[in-house]
Amino acid sequence: MSIVYLDHAATTPTDRRVLEAMLPYFADLYGNPSSLYQSARRARAAVEEARETVAAFLKARPEEIVFTSGGTEADNLAIKGIALANQDRGRHLITSSIEHHAVLESCRWLEGAGFRVTYLNVDRSGRIDLDQLKKALSPETILVSVMHANNEVGTVQPLAEIASVVSAHGAFFHTDAVQTAGKLPLDVDELGVDLLALSGHKFYGPKGVGALYVRKGTSLEPRMHGGHHEHNRRAGTENVPGIVGLAAACARARDAMEQEERHCRELADRLRQGLRERIDDIVFTGHPTERLPGLVSVCVKYVEGESMLMQLDLAGICASSGSACTSGSLEPSHVLSALGIAPEVSHGSLRFSLGKETALADISRVCEVLPPIVERLRAISPLRSDDQGGRGQ
Ligand code: PLP
Repeated sequence: MSIVYLDHAATTPTDRRVLEAMLPYFADLYGNPSSLYQSARRARAAVEEARETVAAFLKARPEEIVFTSGGTEADNLAIKGIALANQDRGRHLITSSIEHHAVLESCRWLEGAGFRVTYLNVDRSGRIDLDQLKKALSPETILVSVMHANNEVGTVQPLAEIASVVSAHGAFFHTDAVQTAGKLPLDVDELGVDLLALSGHKFYGPKGVGALYVRKGTSLEPRMHGGHHEHNRRAGTENVPGIVGLAAACARARDAMEQEERHCRELADRLRQGLRERIDDIVFTGHPTERLPGLVSVCVKYVEGESMLMQLDLAGICASSGSACTSGSLEPSHVLSALGIAPEVSHGSLRFSLGKETALADISRVCEVLPPIVERLRAISPLRSDDQGGRGQ
């Protein structure tokens, strides 16, 4: 059975060219970039060349790039690093209620350390309210962190508009661009951000490597202490193969992004249309137009997302759901709840995220396989009979 992989928002396969670029740095050019002999100097040169490539990808300067172990570390470094370095100016942060846990948990950690955090609401499409942001800003506010695109529903935030509000106030602006890097063009000046996090494995690079863009002049307290790596911002011997791979992924994306964006948008439209025609009582979530090109997020009423995922898996289709099974109970996704979607609806959430290798045949397979799964599950679903009983009363 061939596998249909539609979970690119979770991770992507490492592109062959990326892998090839990385290989020499494992067993041949394995020198420590901080050492002085020739193979080490070549490793150092590779790291610095990668820094230039990643910087160019973001229209930033090489010295503004800090390599990290991925998106989670980049978000932690941005949020805790800014808060701890600037707490004499104020101890208030603003973020949105639909952020990735890497941001939310960093904020919660800071709350435990005496900082105050405002969590902005979002509308039904997942966009933050600029008026609420304006009202929340205070002289105490040092950082605003709003993700570029949401990983569950795909909504893209109006970053430049948010940035102009934040910069007029004199606070720093961080964005988690883990889901947009490699899929949409990124220009740190146009976006107006001071910090931006990205992660290699979301756009055909390797896992365990990412980067944080830090605008020149931004004071940031390191979270990792040790040697003087990464301009004293992140101690630890550099992950040379990973960094080279991250840069190769950026270079690949730069050349292929436009075509891949078109490809993903077209197929995502087909998938939405196919599901709409074949399954009743479904709700598509996220913004209708301002969204990630290849992400389709849908709630299927009267069935549980996890049951559908298991059946899809048996049919060779990999997708994911917003609901996470924790300690035996299905927790509604914090993102779908923030969008105002009732728990009984969000329990039936599915996320299909398309990639460069997704073919029309994959979309047709989902449209063929999912409707009978939904029909079977609905036939035994207490949710449907409850709802219909309720309507009859
Ligand atoms: N931020 C967002 C929006 C994500 O989707 C993810 C990954 O799921 C992360 C951060 C964390 O990135 P990483 O897996 O590189 O730690």
